[in-house]
Amino acid sequence: MPTTLPLLPGSLIDGRPATLGVLGGGQLGRMFVHAAQALGYETVVLDPDAGSPAGRVSHHFIQADYRDENALRELAARCHAITTEFENVPAESLAALAATRPVSPAAECVAIAQDRIREKAHFASCATGSGVAPAPYAVIENEADLGQVPAVLLPGILKTARLGYDGKGQARVANRDELAAAWQRMGGVACVLEQMLPLAHECSVIVARGRDGQVVSLPVQRNLHRDGILAVTEVYEGNLPEIAVKQAQSATVAIANELNYVGVLCVEFFVLQNGSLVVNEMAPRPHNSGHYTVDACDASQFDLQVRTLAGLPLAAPRQHSAAIMLNLLGDLWFSADGQPRTPPWRDLLALPGAHLHLYGKTEARRGRKMGHLTFTGPDAGAVRQRALQAAALLGMEAF
Ligand code: ATP
Ligand code: MG
Repeated sequence: MPTTLPLLPGSLIDGRPATLGVLGGGQLGRMFVHAAQALGYETVVLDPDAGSPAGRVSHHFIQADYRDENALRELAARCHAITTEFENVPAESLAALAATRPVSPAAECVAIAQDRIREKAHFASCATGSGVAPAPYAVIENEADLGQVPAVLLPGILKTARLGYDGKGQARVANRDELAAAWQRMGGVACVLEQMLPLAHECSVIVARGRDGQVVSLPVQRNLHRDGILAVTEVYEGNLPEIAVKQAQSATVAIANELNYVGVLCVEFFVLQNGSLVVNEMAPRPHNSGHYTVDACDASQFDLQVRTLAGLPLAAPRQHSAAIMLNLLGDLWFSADGQPRTPPWRDLLALPGAHLHLYGKTEARRGRKMGHLTFTGPDAGAVRQRALQAAALLGMEAF
């Protein structure tokens, strides 16, 4: 039976509870499952890893490769609508599922986000309306492209077109020799070379867009990256220059509308030292920089993902508390001399406004996202004070 939307919470369809499926079992899938279950939906997670964070909290779990046709058929049979938590899930798998079930975001939008070349072309086409363009860049697919790189793009950052995350698949290059060597090291795959820009801040915006085209936005998040990985997100009044906030919000809405996007979309931006705004990349799903919404907003990015998927109304979310989120990387599970340790949870949880989220990953590894810690409070001063105390307790560098 095809699904009719809206898929109302708590409804029975052919005698089975309304059920939502998610491709990918990481922490984003886990928090999607929490939000779906709070509304009374049953959930199904598909992930290749038997111990995946989302698989372990879902009603149903299918352990399989994302391309396994039998597993995809089983997923479609067990649930009434399907989303993804992971942009590198094969777009063909989403397209196959969409033949029988509502799927959001659409395979085509995910395919664009998977490929920096297509993504940048989309941003460039939206720039005319929004005025926010990507960094100057060149596509490098062969030796001839290397030779034609304009001098103005150096020094630059070479990024693989596909499968990069957390700064992986990137190299900073100062000149043409370094560029050629870095491209060889990346195996000569399709890449983009971006001009290295003088950043003042990094920020991101999350929007949710329904099937009817309604868009709601979350506040602009200020993000601090360390070693290419998000370390801290700060969200409160005055976190960024007002003009950048307005431009980032309207550019994100334009990017979502132009894609006729359905679901939760996050777009990352750079604020340059001259105050201008540049669009960096997008994620067709909830985003690490939006985790604070679980504790600081009256609808989280995961609630919005559930609503867009099930075709429920999208009430505009409101941030009710100032918030700072600290990412808890596996590094914190080791002391300075490399010995395993447990982070000081008791001391951290004694701080007012602390919300600890651990993703149920059993093995801590350096750079691995194990959880996050959000501080909520009445204003920026209060949350900064607590978050800095927490950073000191954790042995994290201040910010
Ligand atoms: P993510 O984990 O967000 O998917 P990623 O590995 O896909 O990251 P980017 O977001 O493109 O990569 O880049 C990672 C970080 O590198 C950025 O957050 C920024 O700090 C820095 N960076 C990227 N591009 C540029 C640029 N053109 N100029 C200056 N810094 C940059
Ligand atoms: Mg990024």
